[in-house]
Amino acid sequence: MNQEISKNNQSILIVGAGMSGLYSASLFAELGFQIIVLEKRPDPRGIGAIAKGRSINFTLSYRGLLALSKIGLKELAIQKAVAVHSRMVHLKSGGVSKQSYQSTESSGLYSITREDLGKILLEKADLNPNITFQFDVNGIEIDKEKSIAKFQTPKGNFQLTSDFIIGADGIYSSIRSSIQKNCVSEYSQNYFDWVYKEFTLTLEQLQSSGLDFNTVNVWGRDPALLIGLPNSNGTLTCNLIVPKTGPLSSESLESELEIHNLVFQNFSRLSPHISQITKELMEHNWSGIVTMSTRPWSFEDQMVLVGDACHAVVHFYAQGLNASLEDCQVLAEQIMKYPNNRKLAFVEYEKMRKVNTDALSELSLQNFRLLISNSSTVKFEAKSRIEGFLSKHIPSIWKTQYSLVAHSNIPYAKVQSISKRQSKIWKFSGLFIVQLILGFIIFSKRLKNQFIGYQKS
Ligand SMILES: Cc1cc2nc3c(=O)[nH]c(=O)nc-3n(C[C@H](O)[C@H](O)[C@H](O)COP(=O)(O)OP(=O)(O)OC[C@H]3O[C@@H](n4cnc5c(N)ncnc54)[C@H](O)[C@@H]3O)c2cc1C
Repeated sequence: MNQEISKNNQSILIVGAGMSGLYSASLFAELGFQIIVLEKRPDPRGIGAIAKGRSINFTLSYRGLLALSKIGLKELAIQKAVAVHSRMVHLKSGGVSKQSYQSTESSGLYSITREDLGKILLEKADLNPNITFQFDVNGIEIDKEKSIAKFQTPKGNFQLTSDFIIGADGIYSSIRSSIQKNCVSEYSQNYFDWVYKEFTLTLEQLQSSGLDFNTVNVWGRDPALLIGLPNSNGTLTCNLIVPKTGPLSSESLESELEIHNLVFQNFSRLSPHISQITKELMEHNWSGIVTMSTRPWSFEDQMVLVGDACHAVVHFYAQGLNASLEDCQVLAEQIMKYPNNRKLAFVEYEKMRKVNTDALSELSLQNFRLLISNSSTVKFEAKSRIEGFLSKHIPSIWKTQYSLVAHSNIPYAKVQSISKRQSKIWKFSGLFIVQLILGFIIFSKRLKNQFIGYQKS
């Protein structure tokens, strides 16, 4: 079968119906393009399938919400999500340090399941007569000069022609491979030397452990990190991250006893539920964390990449999805800006985005180091409090790196340079002395609380 998608309007073949593919489908259809989406997995409707090995929830922040507002889905996404108001850092001593997120229009942070976000994006796209889906697609072969895609489905072999192809097919993108074929390109893929597993706590378990619901719970215990995010069904998904090798690592955590000891010694608040946590962790495999960088992101005016297909970052700033949706928006803007020169639009899109997704990659690694080793220290708490004060009282002068990343759409590379400038100001203005003094006060308070707790027990 040889099918022209559209003879009148421009047509786009989108490969991949993950969040980037589904979002682009609606975005470009609303701009008047005819869209066909090819997805290798079966249609998720009715099955409730969740991508295996991937985290079950995301945090959506300003960038993602702004992107969703462009296709009228912001409010619906918020309805399906849980608003997260603060970060609760669990200290080694057993105490907690609560860091509130500022509450302004742009500073909302929402935890939403992959399934719910996927569902609302798919339902929205499905209502649009300009969008067609083909699931169960296999063995896609691309003729890159003519934007022809050949593929198999359970119903037979097909061939589709379009004006251009968007590769939204994730980190192992086949469209990226087609772009790179016979062309000068750069590509690097790194397996991070930490891995993760997830387990879930029920609402009752949450409450009996004294955990707040509308909060991100963080246990930074170098060399282990545990992050808990709430779900709209009242549960908490916990992401346990450990190194691949070493005395405390995925290698060493093989028996029930070792996992039991890890939880008991490091996450004491969860001890009442230790058997269920241990059981769940024993049932799951460790998942790898992969980062990827590539260039070019496009071929002529025929193929272009979005989302994880062109950049994959570690998930410790919770921005991979937010940045992917931002990509699609910038791509659409450039295509509309250069309606008669799509090749230039693709080049400009890459120029605008790559520098920022490279910066996001660095920022995400930096945040990982901060979460794992610093988040429960007095130094970190003192700095957060001072920065919180400054950004509340002189917001035009001082903004925390976190709020610039999560609560603004300032390009990530600019966030990096603002942060570097603020670090210098911190050092040379004497603010670090205020941090030392406040750190000492916090330390004394923590010590006093520990002593009172010790006396009570
Ligand atoms: C543990 C973890 C937690 C995370 N948490 C957050 C968070 O809180 N906030 C955030 O912003 N980001 C988060 N991320 C990042 C986020 O998951 C990704 O950036 C985002 O899902 C990328 O979406 P995508 O559509 O580009 O790629 P994918 O989600 O990988 O989608 C690709 C789609 O293409 C399909 N496909 C692949 N190959 C083919 C083919 N040959 N033919 C047809 N279809 C194909 C796949 O089946 C899939 O449906 C997290 C990531 C991880 C691993």
